[in-house]
Amino acid sequence: MLDIKRLTEKSAKGLPPTREEALGVLALPDGRLDELLEGAFALRQAHKGMKVGVQLLSSARSGGCTQDCAYCAQAKDSTADIETYRAADYRRLDATRARIDALKLARHCIGLSGLRFTDEEIEEFAAKVARLRASSPTPICCSIGFLTEAQARRLKEAGVGRINHNLNTGRRHYPKICTTHGYDERLANLAMLRRVGFELCCGGIVGMGEGDEDVADLFEDIAAVAPEAVPVNFLIPLAGTKLAEAETARLTPAYCLKVLCLARFTAPRADVRCAAGREVYLAGHEREMFMAVDSVFASGYLTAGGQGVEDTLRLIREAGFEPE
Ligand code: SF4
Repeated sequence: MLDIKRLTEKSAKGLPPTREEALGVLALPDGRLDELLEGAFALRQAHKGMKVGVQLLSSARSGGCTQDCAYCAQAKDSTADIETYRAADYRRLDATRARIDALKLARHCIGLSGLRFTDEEIEEFAAKVARLRASSPTPICCSIGFLTEAQARRLKEAGVGRINHNLNTGRRHYPKICTTHGYDERLANLAMLRRVGFELCCGGIVGMGEGDEDVADLFEDIAAVAPEAVPVNFLIPLAGTKLAEAETARLTPAYCLKVLCLARFTAPRADVRCAAGREVYLAGHEREMFMAVDSVFASGYLTAGGQGVEDTLRLIREAGFEPE
């Protein structure tokens, strides 16, 4: 039987769950969920107090990707109806920055579709980041494909502090989700970003037909990456993507909460973020969710809608937590 007290104590000492413990968390009888949440909450409170960081997402390049990630509306074979542009106008990014500052939110996350970028494209984006940073100290993260080391250094110099690069799913399940680039390339990119000095944001997506073994694999590798932020997405099957008809019945609130607790036990000091799917699978369970999670997006994801900022802030307060 899973020893939750021992798991919590080990995690507090920086020891991530063993594979057996991770599987035990995911298969825990729902009757023990409160006990699991209490363990996650003890870690969350020790490192994050009652704060919840709220981030807004903007897009600096949308659609037209050469890759085939099955969940993604911007993938090469996707027929999803999305806006497509090669480079967002600076004013668009600055409008999100101004909104973040006005609402005193935590972070500006900027997503760019695509796997590789020319040096000219990186230079153009770096100039926009430098302008944003000159007008505000709001931390900037970006979610971007594979960079060369020189490109990564240029973005660091421009003021990007953290880079999101997800592992997405467990190694064995990965070929069912993407065939155009590999899992090891993702790990190598993360290692390079760390060498350059970035904070890392690294998580995945649950609900893509994987089993508990794959989720355990994913978190084992996330523990080895030791990221500063762990975004956990629950699949929203989008029309036009390969996973449009994905079966998501296993994403019950109890299962999603177990996954989020596993994220907290894996990375007790990190920003554990419930990203896409929060509004779909955890509506009405915000108090329990925030026992494990200290970070959320508001106002939508790159190609899927979300909850408005004011509603998100209200929910955080009603759940007894404080927006950061
Ligand atoms: S997740 Fe990124 S790399 Fe994969 S298809 Fe979407 S935009 Fe392209």
